[in-house]
Formats: sequence, structure tokens, C-alpha cells
Amino acid sequence: MYQFCMKKSNLIGLNEAELVKVAESLGGRSFRGRQLYHEIYRRREFSLDQMTELPKKFRSQLEQSFEIRVPQIHDRQQSEDGTIKFLFRLSDAKYIESVLIPEDHRRTLCISSQVGCDVGCTFCMTAQMGFHRNLTPGEILGQVLAIARDGCLSQPGFNVVFMGMGEPLYNYRNVMKAFRIMTDSKALGLSYRKITVSTSGVVPVLSRMRSETELPNLAISLNATRNDVRDELMPINQKWDLNGLLDVCRSFPSKLRRRITFEYVLLSGVTDSDRDAYRLITLLKGMKAKVNLIPYNPDPALPFDRPTPDRVEQFREILMRASISTFVRRTRGDDISAACGQLAHLESESHG
Ligand code: SF4
Repeated sequence: MYQFCMKKSNLIGLNEAELVKVAESLGGRSFRGRQLYHEIYRRREFSLDQMTELPKKFRSQLEQSFEIRVPQIHDRQQSEDGTIKFLFRLSDAKYIESVLIPEDHRRTLCISSQVGCDVGCTFCMTAQMGFHRNLTPGEILGQVLAIARDGCLSQPGFNVVFMGMGEPLYNYRNVMKAFRIMTDSKALGLSYRKITVSTSGVVPVLSRMRSETELPNLAISLNATRNDVRDELMPINQKWDLNGLLDVCRSFPSKLRRRITFEYVLLSGVTDSDRDAYRLITLLKGMKAKVNLIPYNPDPALPFDRPTPDRVEQFREILMRASISTFVRRTRGDDISAACGQLAHLESESHG
């Protein structure tokens, strides 16, 4: 069926079984598909011409219907603190972003799962763009592969977090397909423990995830301790509230239930009071949890402020006294608009 497509299909995003089918559909043997899988994901070779292990005839047959299309890096900004923000232009002229965050001994790559997002969190610039479409598995993997090709992932170990634009669990099938290729030792070979999916709390999909055999780490974007406040900040809470969300987190089978991370954006005067901290302790009682406090990265277009460092520290201390592992995420890339969706929003506005 592949050879009849008018537009060339992208080989990136196909798994091993699909590449075997491609090879067979061109009259090749199945191992040619496995070679192709190795060339693309393991060797990160994106030119069919350079895949000299494959017979020339097979490569020219491939070229007639297929291509290897990685998202194009349209802009690349580096912050004084080393954070690099990549703006990608997709083949339909939509923009997404990824952020590479260097830390002491590792690098974390924050990638997008959708163009825009329709969850509508009021503190988020991506929400201002609305929802355009889901990313394909090839576009999800392509962010990692393009940044690796750019020379920014030369260190062997790096983490991948689905915390860029979009709600990954609204694009579950494509995210999980990309996750399986990332973790396959014959492909990107990342440990599944180095990949984190962050969700605003899509409870039915979280329920479904309990039956997966291998899961990425889970991060729940919590951000409020009362339903009325969360309803305002994250409208998804009106569908699936705090109780339902925390219940499903508690119900993960113990084999899969590694420590769940709760992301908590501290908005000055909105979510950063002592009472919030005490309520958070109650909500997380009995759970294997870690809290990431994120002092808000202000944007002139949004009506929120960052709390003072003292306020952040006091909040953290209350949680620590209750023996909850709590980390304050250093604010990164202030000078390059590195918060989720800021750059792509500017770019899509300028392209009207
Ligand atoms: S914070 Fe995440 S889930 Fe909420 S609107 Fe932004 S991208 Fe969507």
C-alpha cells in the first residue's frame, strides 16, 4: 500500500515491524527493514544515499515513495544559563518548540506532543494558541533526532520530558509509539526511567495506562490544592477533579507505581500560601510522591507574578518538614522566553 501514496511518506516514526513491511512491499527481504530501523534510529543516518549497507537498488526504490523527514530547526536561542530553545517548523508550516536544559551531570530535553493545546491552563502561553493538531510519532521522535544531529546531545545520557507544548495524554497513541521506539535498545536505546510524561490530569487515560507493561515516569501538573482554584487555573479540573485525579494515581499497580512527581507552579498570591502547602501535604498523604515547585516564569501577556525567593523557600520547608521530597526547579532561560509555548506563540502570531 505504501508505494501508491502521492506524497512521500516519512520513515521516521515507523517502528521495526512497519519498516519490515515497507521492505517487503518493495520486494526486499525482511532483514532490510530491520537494517533500515538500525540506520535511522541507532546510527541516526537521515540520508538514504549514505546508507551504503543497503543495496543501491533498494535505496532508489525507497526514494520513490519515502523520505526521512526530521523537523526543521527554524530558530535556536541560547540563554546565558546554557538553556537552549529550539523552534521547529513542521512540514505544514506550524511551529513547535523543544527546550534543552543542561544541569550538573545530565541534560534534559523537554519536547512537545501537540501543536498548541486545548486544555486552557490560564498561566500558560501555549493555551493562548489554541489547539491545532496532534504531532505524529515522527514529529515527536524528530525533535530528539534533530537536536541530536545538531550536536547538542553528544553526551550518552539524557532525559526526555513530555512537558513542552500540548497535553501528551490527548495524543496517547503517538506518544506511546514514540516512547517505545525511544526505549527500544535496537533504536534510541533510552532507559524508560529517563523519560517522563507530564499530564494536566486526563483521568481516563491514566486509568488505561495502568495496564501497560512499561511506562514512562509520570508527572502530574497539580498546581492548586483546592478544586475551586484549580477549576480556574486548569479548566480540565471541572471534568476530572483533584479527588478523581489523586485516586487514579493511588491506584497504579505497585509494580508500575514508581514515585510520581507532582508539579506545582507557584503563582504569587494564588497558590503559594502556607495553607496551600499544608493542604498539599494532606492531598499527597500515603503516596510515593515527589514535589517539584516551579516559581512562575512571568510573561507580560499573563496576569501572574513570581513569588519571592523567601516565599518559595518557606513553602518548600513546610513540605520538607512533612517528609515530602521537594525540589525547587531553578528558573531557566528567562532571557529567551523559555517557558512552555512562549516562542511558538510569538512565531505563529507573526505568521498571522
Ligand atoms: S500547561 Fe500544558 S496542559 Fe496546560 S495549556 Fe499549557 S501545554 Fe496545555
